[in-house]
Amino acid sequence: MAPGTSGICKVRKNEGGRLVLPFYGRVSAVAVDPIEKKPLYHFKPGSSTLSIGFVGCNLRCPFCQNWGISQGVEAPTERLEAGESASLALRSRCASVAYTYSEPVVHAEWVIEAMAAVRAAGLANVLVTNGCVLPPASTELLARCDAVNIDLKSWNADFYRRELGGGLEAVKAFIAEAHGAGVHVEATTLVLPGENDSEEEIDAMAAFLAGLSPELPYHLSAYRPMYRWTKSATRPESVVRLAAVARRRLRHVYSGNLAFERNDDPCPACGAVFVRRAGYSVDASGLSRGTGGEARCAACGERVAYRL
Ligand code: SF4
Repeated sequence: MAPGTSGICKVRKNEGGRLVLPFYGRVSAVAVDPIEKKPLYHFKPGSSTLSIGFVGCNLRCPFCQNWGISQGVEAPTERLEAGESASLALRSRCASVAYTYSEPVVHAEWVIEAMAAVRAAGLANVLVTNGCVLPPASTELLARCDAVNIDLKSWNADFYRRELGGGLEAVKAFIAEAHGAGVHVEATTLVLPGENDSEEEIDAMAAFLAGLSPELPYHLSAYRPMYRWTKSATRPESVVRLAAVARRRLRHVYSGNLAFERNDDPCPACGAVFVRRAGYSVDASGLSRGTGGEARCAACGERVAYRL
């Protein structure tokens, strides 16, 4: 960054040779969401999360669904003290605070401060990110994070670099780092017609995730025309077909942005449906907590890959 200019993310600036954060603590949105909306399906199912959005992003996805806050810094913002996130979440009866909507990692300093306050209040931290973040920032964030949903936008490094301005290897490394750090990880791919929707590409992404754990939940979401992209929306049958491809490697694959999606979860041992989902509404009454706090099927007692 030359003196007087900002970085690509627009929220870091060189002011007379000193790096400054003109948008530190400036939030564009604060709302209570179902945790399923992040999407996180295997982390505190049925709970609410206090969702905090910012401005700016380190990528420039031409199909960004939140481009009004991610691709500029003109959106109205308000100042939020990092410690206030915890008290707001407690008042709103939320089990967690999610850093989401635009890209939170470009505000890592504020997010790390807020995460410390949220942990101290006994609540969980959730990061929803494009995963383009390297150590030591990634390590500092993950040390305070309980669950993360990471976009895996493509298996094509050239597409990442050319169209999005990011790096596939950095995203893969962040997913692996989060998993290795014991953070609950779910991954999401927005299915882009003609770009990342071949069975081979979805299979390659599923294989990478399954290499970390076949229990890692994977969301395939239908794209809708947005921002600079006018390509037709993803056909629902395409998402369903690709989800079946991913299920050859992963046990928990969900389809998103579809009118008819149900995404129920049957117990792998007895077959009883222990979580029922319709859109963001969820009935997790078929899950019970074991003596060590672990999630179990209420019908047969089988341990299941959920964090309660
Ligand atoms: S990484 Fe997310 S917020 Fe940033 S431009 Fe891409 S879709 Fe938008």
